[in-house]
Amino acid sequence: MIGVAVLGSTGSVGVSTLDVVARHRDRFKVVALTAHRDVDGLFKQCLEHQPKLAVMVDEKAAQRLAALVKEHGLKLEVRSGPASLLDAAAMPEAPYVMAAIVGAAGLEATLAAVRAGKRVLLANKEALVMAGGLFMDAVRGHGAELMPIDSEHNAVFQCMPGGYRAGTWPRGVRRILLTASGGPFRGWPLERLAEVTPAEACAHPTWSMGRKISVDSATMMNKGLEVIEACWLFGTSPERVEVLVHPQSVIHSMVEYDDGSVLAQLSNPDMRTPIAHGLGWPERLTAGVEPLDMLARGNLDFEPPDLESFPCLKLAMQAAEEGDGAPVVLNAANEVAVAAFLSGRLSFTGIAELVDSALQEVPRGRCASLDDVLALDRRARDASEARIGALARSA
Ligand code: NAD
Ligand code: MG
Repeated sequence: MIGVAVLGSTGSVGVSTLDVVARHRDRFKVVALTAHRDVDGLFKQCLEHQPKLAVMVDEKAAQRLAALVKEHGLKLEVRSGPASLLDAAAMPEAPYVMAAIVGAAGLEATLAAVRAGKRVLLANKEALVMAGGLFMDAVRGHGAELMPIDSEHNAVFQCMPGGYRAGTWPRGVRRILLTASGGPFRGWPLERLAEVTPAEACAHPTWSMGRKISVDSATMMNKGLEVIEACWLFGTSPERVEVLVHPQSVIHSMVEYDDGSVLAQLSNPDMRTPIAHGLGWPERLTAGVEPLDMLARGNLDFEPPDLESFPCLKLAMQAAEEGDGAPVVLNAANEVAVAAFLSGRLSFTGIAELVDSALQEVPRGRCASLDDVLALDRRARDASEARIGALARSA
């Protein structure tokens, strides 16, 4: 029996992970679950999976969960606060950790799982974007096993030569072709995007996901974050990663070899496929995913990304080129901008404008330690919040 800790278990990836795990109860046992403040969601999961530890980051939510746990006579410990996420990530009973917290909030726990030498199933791409160098050093230094769960990166991993381990660029590989759906506004001119609402931005044409990544997909910042993620995961630089818009989301990415071969991974767009791959590797597990019907799917189309309408992708590529603290600033400003957009304080096109001004204005140097990364993240957030406040006052 392999113990699994699921960080961010009430989210879209977390729920899909528990779905796959529940199909293989003879093989996996859930030992820890964590969430921010969704008491009912986490309690339901505790009833079903009976973990040893449940973490609710929010103090009041943790109290409510503890009361429910007591009332129902469940034998599990409830802890609260962000530091408890690190306990869940490093539990000796859980050699596998699903890192599915959204955003910078997941960085320290994901890193704790790496430092504990776990098999880390990495969905929390922001952790790599912010601290890729430190993260990959820790993977090597602590013998962690890094399994990419982001569908594109999982596809690339699957198309790499046999026995591949994350962090290296194998001989004979020429390029990665990273596919993108293009999001709900593919083909729209920039002028039309200013009036877009959160509901429209979150209605993704091919994937069902959390709200933050849905907005990132709509601005194409998600693909920019994924370029940076790919560089760290596969030990390469942005010029070897080409973004290709593929609206059907059937080919999840491709790897081009020196001999002209191009290998692709195809499946229906369902996160349970990469999750099952990460859990089972090198074996294959059933995932509850419908078989891919190529005849019903019909044509597969490809087009170049539109950097005029989707400047976030361009900004992310520039940050990838600059390296060091630039991706930290990019990520922090984007998280602030997306939250402001979702709460009606910023327009859709304001997201790219805010990220652009943060990249121009926030001074940054080398991020040699986690403290450097967290301090720069804080500065970029403060600068971005101040700018949103100023925009509101001048409106
Ligand atoms: P989501 O919003 O659905 O879920 C996020 C989870 O994180 C929830 O369990 C929530 O309780 C927890 N969380 C939120 N804020 C927190 C905080 N401050 N502290 C601790 N926990 C917190 O997000 P999601 O769509 O499942 O995405 C999770 C991660 O996976 C993101 O980094 C995303 O980019 C990545 N990812 C998601 C998908 C997808 O299909 N949803 C695909 C690829 C990659
Ligand atoms: Mg992806």
